[in-house]
Amino acid sequence: MIVGVLVEISNKAVDRIFDYSVPCSLKDKIKVGIRVLVPFGKMTLEGFVLEVKNDKTFDKELKDILNIIDSDIVLNHELLELGKKVQKKTLASLISCYQVMLPKALKAKHGSNVAVQFDTFYCLRQNINLDQLKFNDSQLKIIEIVRQKKLVLRKELCAISTSSLNTLIKKEILEEVKKEHYRRNYANVAFFKHQLTENQKKVVSQVTLNSPQTYLLYGVTGSGKTEVYMEVIDYYLKQGKTSIMLVPEISLTPQMVQRFQERFGSKIAAIHSGLSDGERYDEWRRITRGEASIVIGARSAIFAPLKNIGIIIIDEEHSDSYKQSNSNPRYHARDVAIFRSRYHHCSIVLGSATPSLETMARAQKGVYSLLELSHRVNGKEMPRVTVVDMNKEMKNISGNLSKELIKAIQNTLDRNEQVILLLNRRGYSSFVMCKNCGYTFKCPNCDITLTYHKSSNTLRCHYCGFGEKRYFECPKCHEKSLSNLGLGTQKIEEELNTLFPTCKILRMDYDTTSRKGMHEKMTTDFRDGKYDVLLGTQMVAKGLDFSKVTLVGIINADTSLNIPDFRSSENTFSLLSQAAGRCGRGEREGCVVIQTFNPNHYAISFAKNHDYFSFYMYEMNVRRILKYPPYFYLCNLKVSGKKSDLVLREALKIKSELTSALTNIIILGPSTASVFKINNVYRYNIILKYKTFDNLYEVLEKIDEHYKTKSQVYLEIDFEPSQIL
Ligand code: ADP
Ligand code: ZN
Repeated sequence: MIVGVLVEISNKAVDRIFDYSVPCSLKDKIKVGIRVLVPFGKMTLEGFVLEVKNDKTFDKELKDILNIIDSDIVLNHELLELGKKVQKKTLASLISCYQVMLPKALKAKHGSNVAVQFDTFYCLRQNINLDQLKFNDSQLKIIEIVRQKKLVLRKELCAISTSSLNTLIKKEILEEVKKEHYRRNYANVAFFKHQLTENQKKVVSQVTLNSPQTYLLYGVTGSGKTEVYMEVIDYYLKQGKTSIMLVPEISLTPQMVQRFQERFGSKIAAIHSGLSDGERYDEWRRITRGEASIVIGARSAIFAPLKNIGIIIIDEEHSDSYKQSNSNPRYHARDVAIFRSRYHHCSIVLGSATPSLETMARAQKGVYSLLELSHRVNGKEMPRVTVVDMNKEMKNISGNLSKELIKAIQNTLDRNEQVILLLNRRGYSSFVMCKNCGYTFKCPNCDITLTYHKSSNTLRCHYCGFGEKRYFECPKCHEKSLSNLGLGTQKIEEELNTLFPTCKILRMDYDTTSRKGMHEKMTTDFRDGKYDVLLGTQMVAKGLDFSKVTLVGIINADTSLNIPDFRSSENTFSLLSQAAGRCGRGEREGCVVIQTFNPNHYAISFAKNHDYFSFYMYEMNVRRILKYPPYFYLCNLKVSGKKSDLVLREALKIKSELTSALTNIIILGPSTASVFKINNVYRYNIILKYKTFDNLYEVLEKIDEHYKTKSQVYLEIDFEPSQIL
């Protein structure tokens, strides 16, 4: 027996299938999709069996595989095929396309420290005649419980008496049974659902009754989309089918998971960054075994090994978190969803209050079917939005809060209602500068200013992780005049404390939520009214649903506008709309205050009027003129290396090769990336714009092949990049 094995090694040059023979002792256990250990040169590597072949076609001597790692297959037929499709679409290595599907516990090198956990249970031994034996009281109690429940957890019996338990074990009356233990529990909580509105019902029946297709559900914030998703999922559950629901990591809040758990109990598996590797592995096993049939998770949950999928839902479909941009494979979850929907003959629902331009354009063309929920549930009004021009305001105030916003906060607090304040930190950071000579601290490895972290009093590089203690005096002019610049949540918190000394403020940002469970605790505390103001970064803008919030303040709407990226208007519009959507969800009307230095920018004025379609039309026109998506496809070729002149030379070579091999394509660059040097690596971008693929993939594959073996210049290909920086 011969098997074709794909080995787990990140070297692109060996990304192909190698043949091994199978020793007799392992023959029965070999299946396509299992993991094996194989000799590879002088190393022993893990790999996936992708093919089982006929002996007779081989005459040369092959090496034996060494062992089988786990007896069950980890990649079923669908996932094996899916990996090949993702590979074709992204030009990443095939092994990376399989690795991205699996929990860390099943990856080479990581797996060893994540084990399956077991619980110890006891049951009565068969054929034991208890009547002839004598027992004390606690022994009798234990026997009675085990007789009733059949299988009882050790902990429960120890609570009665450990010594009695041990005696019963020694006398061979009780027998030990080990069962796999999952680190997380989903209690079967009380079933809860809303009576759907007529509009919601209409959407549900369109999705469930028509033939498989891709829908765009465009529904304003608070229109009851999540409720629709749950009803659709329920429909398929009753048909014995499974579901995947993707949400951006940032809105995969405990609140969201709880809503699903209240309705579906232990049928759900939730996969998010708050889980430990062990917990993720447990969830993955529950899914493979068919114990969980509804998967809620961030991007990579699109690979969940579910069988018989009935529906795939991508909530907040505009979110750039659905595109993997920092490592291979650089896939988009939407594309993977489309592959899987074809395999399972199921529909896809893309939902958003601010659909991406690409998706809305496809809906307008009829490629996707458009469904709308244009009003909030129960006729609630959209919040009233005030835009404050900070150019004028800055002359009158010393801090960062405008008079208008301060007044609105005061009014809300007086009415005993709650406030959410958003500090837009996209593309923004705080830094340290010398007021005497203007010196700023730069990362020694990267072409960027260091960010000041108050909690640890350090300066850190957000690109390479470099860190050092904050200085007392300027290293250049030796004056003690260093000052912290920029706007952080801590600074706003201090301002609020001065203005509203009795107000209880909850600060939610990367620093305060990094500890496990903190995010959950904070949301619960805020909902329970333990705080008046929730102050935070992007993470407060999405997905949260608090009924007592009647004011949302956006402290700096502009930072995301100033990012040099073609999507910056779209991202700003969407962030403002989402943030505004957190407000006025309860009985009382809500209002929103947006502080900005660009009060007339279209992204801000359309957001003020909750006018998605006008924004869409305006922005489409901009994209058409500038030849950006959805009118053109984009591909970014990132060329990098430690010697900047060599990198540039190779980048120019790539460009001229592309120019001669391709027609109907616009090629820009090579230009320096917006951060030119990261970790001592210099980076150039070549941007391709095109309407048709023609021979693009073949040409790029050939160029990529060439750079696989180069050690001084690296090439990364990013199709449909979420941003170009
Ligand atoms: P979206 O996902 O569109 O922002 P949600 O599904 O979160 O909207 O609904 C907004 C609020 O309205 C939630 O508090 C939800 O519980 C409530 N809600 C949704 N549908 C109904 C309904 N049919 N009846 C009563 N309340 C509903
Ligand atoms: Zn750095």
